[in-house]
Amino acid sequence: MADKGVTLRELKERPVTDLHGVNSRKAEMLQKIEVRSVLDLITVYPRRYIDRSKQTTIADLTVGEEGMVLVTVAKVATRRMRNRRSLVEVTVEDETGRMRLVFFNQPWRSKQLTEDKEAIIFGRLDLYQGNKQMTNPIVDLVGDRTGRIVAVYPQSEVAGVQSWDLDALVAEALRRVMKVRGFEDPVPKEIRENYRLVDRSTAFLQIHRPGSMQEVAEARRRLVFDELLRIQLELVQRKVQLERSTKGISHNASGFLTTAFHEQLPYTLTGAQKRVIDEILTDLKKGLPMHRLLQGDVGSGKTVVAVTALLSAVQGGHQGAFMAPTEVLAEQHYLGISDLLQNMNVEDDSTLLGQRPLRVEILTSSASSSQRKLIVEKLANGGVDIVVGTHALIQDEISFSSLGVVVIDEQHRFGVDQRAALREKQSDGMAPDVLVMTATPIPRTAAMTVYGDLDVSILDEMPLGRTPIETFWIKEEQAAWESIREEVKEGKQAYVVCPLIDESDSLNVRSAEETFTRLSEEVFSDLRVELLHGRIKSDEKNQVMEKFRQGETDILVATTVIEVGVDVPNATVMVVLDAYRFGIAQLHQLRGRVGRGSSSSACFLVGDAGTAIGEERLKALVQTTDGFELAEVDLELRGEGTIMADRQKGRNDLRLASLRRDREWVEIAREVAIGIVSGDPDLNSHVGLRNEISAVLEESDGEYLLKS
Ligand code: ADP
Ligand code: MG
Repeated sequence: MADKGVTLRELKERPVTDLHGVNSRKAEMLQKIEVRSVLDLITVYPRRYIDRSKQTTIADLTVGEEGMVLVTVAKVATRRMRNRRSLVEVTVEDETGRMRLVFFNQPWRSKQLTEDKEAIIFGRLDLYQGNKQMTNPIVDLVGDRTGRIVAVYPQSEVAGVQSWDLDALVAEALRRVMKVRGFEDPVPKEIRENYRLVDRSTAFLQIHRPGSMQEVAEARRRLVFDELLRIQLELVQRKVQLERSTKGISHNASGFLTTAFHEQLPYTLTGAQKRVIDEILTDLKKGLPMHRLLQGDVGSGKTVVAVTALLSAVQGGHQGAFMAPTEVLAEQHYLGISDLLQNMNVEDDSTLLGQRPLRVEILTSSASSSQRKLIVEKLANGGVDIVVGTHALIQDEISFSSLGVVVIDEQHRFGVDQRAALREKQSDGMAPDVLVMTATPIPRTAAMTVYGDLDVSILDEMPLGRTPIETFWIKEEQAAWESIREEVKEGKQAYVVCPLIDESDSLNVRSAEETFTRLSEEVFSDLRVELLHGRIKSDEKNQVMEKFRQGETDILVATTVIEVGVDVPNATVMVVLDAYRFGIAQLHQLRGRVGRGSSSSACFLVGDAGTAIGEERLKALVQTTDGFELAEVDLELRGEGTIMADRQKGRNDLRLASLRRDREWVEIAREVAIGIVSGDPDLNSHVGLRNEISAVLEESDGEYLLKS
């Protein structure tokens, strides 16, 4: 058998100092950009490429258009402007002529571009007082590299690492690998052929030293696939192991209770609700514990789905628990769920009639100690069927007689540890089934990665009869105030949301206090205006909310405290001041406070865009009320960093892959991973992949992946 190639694990174990040309000073520099092993080095990928076939000369540049030239620095001058910002002026030349480069506020350019240095300049040519000039162009010091396509590596001023340093070191590393055995390719040939992926050696050579941009694209596909496959293998494997190692309850999923519950609803379930309930019931019937994420926009009807799951537990003689992120929401869910279940009976042979009323209780930390004691007792002896509460439910002293199904609402405010603790409240060694619900949708492929060890269900259809919300982005408030006036005349109510509580010195933002004064004393002095924000005492807050619920207040001026869970169907206008200060998800949640009744509603986003991204955000909100569409836009605008941030700590393996751009590959990688793991759960026949996962995914990544 031929020698096997070099593995990523071997490269991970080999320090960069083993490479020719890495002395201790260089090693120190590399360490600053977190390059320690040869693997670290070859996975520093080019930031972009210079295609020299597109290179032209200064004489051939066209005014008003972008172009690329190779030049030599002739003269450098730094000036300080009146506003104390710096201005670096660089005169550059080639054999056809001269031009001037100006850099605003980049003082270090005078050190980068010293006389006689060669650089590739990319930018738009302007004429300034008749002379050729580029303002803040892109500069690449290429050193003496040749070739048609030149890779440009991320440079670090702080670490003193230049593009050509990396270029030379990577070339040396690759030369060594190829000279020995080339790379081992752990991905089975059929899979590579199926998705038309180049082999690993080709991929590494082409990403660093491409002959054409086509080669870059091929290499990128392969390396992106590898990154995503490793993560998906880890997640899918973890999921399968969890399923193998824990026993779950086979619930009686199509019993009397759930059927009766659906029959007595005043509406029929939406197609999406039926589909998702089916997915959940299928899970519940299995002897494996469910770990499912339910994504559904505000108002998509998640509660009915959750209650159905809880009832499945109850009809088999188990208990259900519903956890909310705050006391207020727990209270609200308790009232809602009790209301939905008020006439439901449970079969009970120990009673005369063979049945008894279903028992729903609430347990939060505001319960008195005697109340609490009573409920804790009932949970332990089966005297409660369904309990609603906050994280107080998973405190150590609480035990359930037989916890069957757990629903967790708004998981993004819920710690992973808390979820794990709850899962451990199992009876007879059987883990409860867990349904996690979130009203902050994230795109499907992002969910596959961030929540890759959960199954995902999506409620993507709104119940009929919901009135659409019309959204307007206006620069001046006037139109919003007029709309409020009209609606209040019809007996409706309105919210006015402000970004901050009180006047801030640095930001030009309307505060809730100031807005309240202005509205209650001037604009709407004839109407009933109230104020709600986080610094108001909690019983006062409740009073304000209660008055608004009762229709005794016309306009509620508030901060984002009303973002989640406030449900007043009579409110039909939402005005958000300085809307650019809020994120997409937040604006979408705020808007979801209206449009809850039978009357049509309006949302006014007031103010300037702030930034170009702000403008995109506001436009997206005007265009659609679909939370999933907005989530896509959000991901597009902010990048995946923000989504991954709280789950994925430390460095991760996603160097090239983007959850946005590479959506298609996320799905492919998951499919491939499921295929591999289902036939070979311990990867015994895929040892190469197994070794690579443990070597490449850093410990912190492993932790995040395992914790949910
Ligand atoms: P979510 O929790 O997903 O925001 P809810 O479960 O609170 O949504 O439901 C929102 C509203 O829609 C509730 O008033 C509920 O009674 C109603 N609803 C739920 N499902 C349906 C349906 N299939 N048809 C009509 N109304 C529904
Ligand atoms: Mg809800």
